[in-house]
Amino acid sequence: MGASWSCFELKIVPIADRGRLGFSLRDRPDPSKVRNRLGTSALKCPICNGEVQQYAPSCRYCGTRFAWPGSPAQPPLPHEPHNEKRVATAVLLLALLALSGFFSAYVLVPIVNTFFRDARSIYRSIVCSSSSSCNPTVVLAPTATYDQQVFMIFRQTFSSLSVNVTAVEQSDSNGYGPSYLLNGVTNDGYWYQVGLSWNWPVASGKGYFPGWSFAREVFTPSGSTNPPRFQSFSGTVNDGDVVLLSIYFSGRDVVMSAYDYDTGARASQSSARDSGSSYFQSFYSVGNMEFFTGLMTEWYHSKAGETRMDRVAYSVNGNPISSGRVCVDEHVAHDFTSPPVYSGCSAELGLDSRPQPFSFHGLNAYASSMEFVTGPS
Ligand SMILES: [Zn+2]
Repeated sequence: MGASWSCFELKIVPIADRGRLGFSLRDRPDPSKVRNRLGTSALKCPICNGEVQQYAPSCRYCGTRFAWPGSPAQPPLPHEPHNEKRVATAVLLLALLALSGFFSAYVLVPIVNTFFRDARSIYRSIVCSSSSSCNPTVVLAPTATYDQQVFMIFRQTFSSLSVNVTAVEQSDSNGYGPSYLLNGVTNDGYWYQVGLSWNWPVASGKGYFPGWSFAREVFTPSGSTNPPRFQSFSGTVNDGDVVLLSIYFSGRDVVMSAYDYDTGARASQSSARDSGSSYFQSFYSVGNMEFFTGLMTEWYHSKAGETRMDRVAYSVNGNPISSGRVCVDEHVAHDFTSPPVYSGCSAELGLDSRPQPFSFHGLNAYASSMEFVTGPS
């Protein structure tokens, strides 16, 4: 599938159009409306929420470059460090946002999931900074509202986790793509995710970073997390490459890493290990949150109930998986009160070399002792 963002039909969605997309903020005030007192449908930067002129090549507040629908395709520009004034403006804006609870919750801070019993990730908040590895071109797109997940929960415990996954480039009609994630929760409740993301939404959900990025996130036992910044790989990742994902203890750290066997591109991040962490367990819950050890294809969409999904295979390195459950669900991002759009899990499956299918709501998955497959639909 082509990686060029210019192929997608894209549009930036004025705030007034949210209702038509089925986006609901429920009882929460709409920060954009609060800011936009003149009642115009001013366009907003998906990164900093500053006002943006249509077809502006970049945000004058935070420097994020934009790819606009209907504008001539342009190759991404080489990275330009933000100048100090621009950074100062952005910092001031961020500070103002942080002072306002609903602003920070809506734009910058990942929402800790407390809705349902189903395990799920809230990984979505990639906040781009001015680091040299960050290419802050954002393709504007209708708000990514629905978080779709197809995942497998491993039953047993592990001293380390390692899988191979195929880097399948696939996008929905608005350009958004999935993440392919290895997940591990320690015996004392720290949850680690590592993987790779294709056309992954920015924190505001109003556009995406085109191409591949490195995905990783750490959640504490209480479920809190710091939003990771956008991080690219050290080199190119191509469609169809096989990528090694691993999570392991290394001295005082827990390491989350990804390595493309075909190109040698890599990315990793270490996180200080909790003194009580010694192995990965199957499952951990706190309050209504449930974290798991296993695999997940996660995909944000603008429309509910998307069913198109190409086949992606994860293969386990090391000991076979003896048993597990496969689940499919979708929920409205940032909505703490509504039930999921749909949600279903298999029974506990005893696994051997034969793939066992699980289908729900038009989405298909297969689990065996050595492989988990999501799609095709
Ligand atoms: Zn901005």
